[in-house]
Amino acid sequence: MIYLDNAATTRTAPEVLEAMLPYFTEIYGNPSAIYSLGSAGKKAIGEARRTIAAALGARQEEIYFTAGGTEADNWAIKAAAESCSGKGKHIITTKIEHHAVLHTCEYLEKRGYRVTYLDVDGDGLVDPQALKASIRPDTILISVMFANNEIGTIEPIREIGAIAREHGILFHTDAVQAFGQIPIHVEELNIDMLSASAHKLNGPKGIGMLYIRSNAKIPSLIHGGAQERNKRAGTENVPGIVGFAAAVSRAQRMMEEKGRKERELRDYLIGRIEREIPYCRLNGHRDKRLPGNVNISFQFIEGESLLIMLDMRGVCASSGSACTSGSLDPSHVLLATGLRHEEAHGSLRMTLSEENTKEELDEVVGHLKEIVQRLRDMSPLYEDFVKSPKEQYNR
Ligand SMILES: *Cc1c(COP(=O)(O)O)cnc(C)c1O
Repeated sequence: MIYLDNAATTRTAPEVLEAMLPYFTEIYGNPSAIYSLGSAGKKAIGEARRTIAAALGARQEEIYFTAGGTEADNWAIKAAAESCSGKGKHIITTKIEHHAVLHTCEYLEKRGYRVTYLDVDGDGLVDPQALKASIRPDTILISVMFANNEIGTIEPIREIGAIAREHGILFHTDAVQAFGQIPIHVEELNIDMLSASAHKLNGPKGIGMLYIRSNAKIPSLIHGGAQERNKRAGTENVPGIVGFAAAVSRAQRMMEEKGRKERELRDYLIGRIEREIPYCRLNGHRDKRLPGNVNISFQFIEGESLLIMLDMRGVCASSGSACTSGSLDPSHVLLATGLRHEEAHGSLRMTLSEENTKEELDEVVGHLKEIVQRLRDMSPLYEDFVKSPKEQYNR
């Protein structure tokens, strides 16, 4: 099997699993308990919080554990909306956010909030000047993702943070794809809230966090016990939290090496596809791009068919975001970059890890060449095109 879907989820690293195991078997006490079996868990949570805070340039009391990235996004946006509703009800976000952000904004729209969904350019970049121009006196929150999960484009977060700060508006970023892949410093970037999730960086599923700047007044997400400084009640997921921190340590330690390796593999794969398969285009920005992201549209074919045929040959990839596969709607991200519906349908996302090899990618390119040709041979659109080529698709 060749796994090229690391933006959907990653393999839990062996050292992460090893760090977690004692918290299932021996150190299972409730962290709120007085006896040492409990306090050992509490201590581990404290250490994990410090590790993760340090990786972000934050303070430990600014890290709140959640059940994942989706929960953190929901919390950040709903809490900001609730706590700032006295000032106004306008939110600025983008058309390419993850559904965890978009659907939360749509929920708020039904409750009287107004949301501006910023356009992006052909590479998926948000224009900070357009963002600035959309600010109104009643704007209470700006939420722009750090890097996109489908096309890998890295947004101008520093510029956006500066604009938000200058206008005194809360700034949230969904950094689920970026955290652990590229350096992030919440102070330097003027980020007020940041979402992250362990399973995107070789940690376990079901654990994530929201960074909340200490002076931001954000209401509690879940009411009950005093866990997470009274903001997110419920007995902590101790193994998950410990695993998250182990994954963050690993990611910090490996970031440079892993990034270098993935960029090299990424550019090799993109280069071979662009040279050897006609009528395709790269989606997302060529350089301002996550190290492991490859997203290509193949004209005249259906991404779903491509995925199924790749799967039969043992290759795991995606045709957009994992959350939308299974539905026939074209990706909202690709449409926002200006692709036509049929171009968006013919897209393939391959997200690499440092464990992939050039040999694997050579094998995948071989499969792709065959499959794309076979699907095109069955396509009436392609037949028409071959008879009278109208437009040059490669750019
Ligand atoms: C995966 C992902 C999420 C959701 O995170 P979960 O931990 O799976 O809930 C949110 N935003 C982005 C950009 C993602 O890639």
